[in-house]
Amino acid sequence: MECDSRPGPVRTTCAYCGVGCGVLATPDGTGGAAIEGDPDHPANFGRLCVKGSALGETVGLEGRLLAPQIGGQETDWDQALDLVARRFAGTIAAHGPDSVAFYVSGQLLTEDYYVANKLMKGFIGSGNIDTNSRLCMASSVAGHRRAFGSDTVPGLYEDLEMADTVVLTGSNLAWCHPVLYQRLAAAKTARPSMRVVVIDPRRTATCDIADLHLAIEPGSDAALFNALLAEIDRRGLASARFRDHLAGADEAIAAARLSDPSMTGLDPAELARFLEIWLASEKVVTVYSQGINQSDSGTDKVNAIINCHLLTGRIGREGMGPFSVTGQPNAMGGREVGGLANMLACHLEIENPMHRDTVRDFWNSPHIAERPGLKAVDMFRAVEDGRIKALWIICTNPAVSMPDADRVARAIAGCDFTVVSDVMARTDTTRLADVLLPATGWGEKNGTVTNSERRISRQRPFLPAPGQARDDWRILAGVGRRMGWPDAFAWQHPAEIFAEYAALSEIAGTLGSDFDISACAAMTRAEYDRMAPILWPQSATRKGGRFFADGRFHTADGKARMLPIRPQLPEAIADGHLFRLNTGRVRDHWHTMTRTGKSPRLARHLAEPFLELHPDDAKRLNLQPADLARVANRHGTSVLRVLVTDRVKPGHPFAPIHWTGETGKAGRVGAVVPAAVDPVSGQPALKSAAVSIERYNPR
Ligand code: SF4
Repeated sequence: MECDSRPGPVRTTCAYCGVGCGVLATPDGTGGAAIEGDPDHPANFGRLCVKGSALGETVGLEGRLLAPQIGGQETDWDQALDLVARRFAGTIAAHGPDSVAFYVSGQLLTEDYYVANKLMKGFIGSGNIDTNSRLCMASSVAGHRRAFGSDTVPGLYEDLEMADTVVLTGSNLAWCHPVLYQRLAAAKTARPSMRVVVIDPRRTATCDIADLHLAIEPGSDAALFNALLAEIDRRGLASARFRDHLAGADEAIAAARLSDPSMTGLDPAELARFLEIWLASEKVVTVYSQGINQSDSGTDKVNAIINCHLLTGRIGREGMGPFSVTGQPNAMGGREVGGLANMLACHLEIENPMHRDTVRDFWNSPHIAERPGLKAVDMFRAVEDGRIKALWIICTNPAVSMPDADRVARAIAGCDFTVVSDVMARTDTTRLADVLLPATGWGEKNGTVTNSERRISRQRPFLPAPGQARDDWRILAGVGRRMGWPDAFAWQHPAEIFAEYAALSEIAGTLGSDFDISACAAMTRAEYDRMAPILWPQSATRKGGRFFADGRFHTADGKARMLPIRPQLPEAIADGHLFRLNTGRVRDHWHTMTRTGKSPRLARHLAEPFLELHPDDAKRLNLQPADLARVANRHGTSVLRVLVTDRVKPGHPFAPIHWTGETGKAGRVGAVVPAAVDPVSGQPALKSAAVSIERYNPR
């Protein structure tokens, strides 16, 4: 067993959301662990939310996948890895490198992600590696790159505490990033003059601390921020200091002036109050999350927000800036390491020949992917139509979580060769695999994650790997060696992978990349084991901090780009459906519940899938509280318990994403979400499914 051997609890990082809280874990000797918040971790200073504090209840071995399987029969690692390597190599030889794909996860550690990316892009030679983070924050990545020339989060968590006004749009921070919400709530209590504005069609728990809740028309965020941009210009509040650092301001302002604020559905007094609060505050942080990103115009919404911060110069200084919060524990690490199909490691660009050559030379690889690979939705379409013939799914459950989930499940089932690496034996996806590979889970894994403020923290093991379970990087490296590249995949410890990655970041810095952890390149294994949380950049000259306060951006001319945004509402509901279903998380469950489903304490909050329905809609449908409703469209069917509430708008019910099960008989909402995507980011519009609703009759 490879464990932190220092006395006392092991310092690690929570397995769930992008806040990235530090955790002290003390094994109880019976397979569980006592969990406390780490008082020294700068993300949480000892706080934990209910999910984090219940982590010790989720590390038991029930339901674990403990041995490799081929065709449902247990086997050993050599047989399983030989088969995976042989089938991938054979498929590539027969059909080319783009006939294979990896679909990975924002819950992988950075070291796992680095190895998967190196194997696919540098050695197999295809860009076909994408991640479930595509579902989470790809629109933020695309918006950052359009505006800043790089996927850089400008600010820090402490900016939320320092701000005069915090605007939360498309973010139920109270449930989805609870410790960051706790920090914000505590700051507002300590400084009552602070203003909090929540922009959300639903009245969520986050509204508890709001001075103003704007229940805008779903999808109209860009119209609201365009109204703000036009007002900034009308009042002459553009930053004189920043104006020379911007390109595209005139075009963005002209587009904002043309856009119609009535799209927001707000009455003029509400809109005026929002404008007054925002414009009266020098220090404004605008936090955004899935309600912005998961839209077919998500990237435009991101840029509509960033435009307002750029024009006023409210970016990169204490208490101000646009702030995208990531859903998963290592969504950010995946972005940094090139886990998206259109990126290389260290924020280098796959479409830039110099970047490609540099990475190929560094890896000493035979070739490198020459174009972006398939993004998540397109990847499963390619599986469906046979262009992808060998698929490796790692640490994620797309048969539940992808939009049009029934279609995705059928595509996986029909793939010539599917490998699934997972912690759990029976998920909706593992049952479709030809080869199952048992992976280590939280508490057993060793590596790093990056949180939403660019802070890299260690996940450390405190439990032995059960059965034959192996770390994901080790499994991937074993396949890489078997495919003929023993030297490139020869690491013996994650510290070696991290050091290689850090050395690559130094070279990336010479090409203009913002991502820099070169100070870690000479880190020894002992230093890696002891590593305290660090904020990147970490170089010889710079240790952490904010970006862009000096008005210098990562574009070729150093100027930020303002984008002209033409707001779009979701397409009109067609096919006779009457409702537009919004989807999201609940406080105490995580993704497809493979981990949180083990905790009785977490199940007590909300025990079954539900449909929040406005009283007017419930009356129209003759549905009573606790009735069962059938939610359907041509993609599939979901069955949900009715919860009648005026927290949602008429015509806009809400259902959580977490529950699994057979379509038409269970609350698996991915079955009714169509696979429409943002054209820039490829992120699916998971919050806007046109559906019909009727009473469920099980017979
Ligand atoms: Fe874990 Fe997020 Fe809760 Fe922190 S806020 S304990 S990272 S789930």
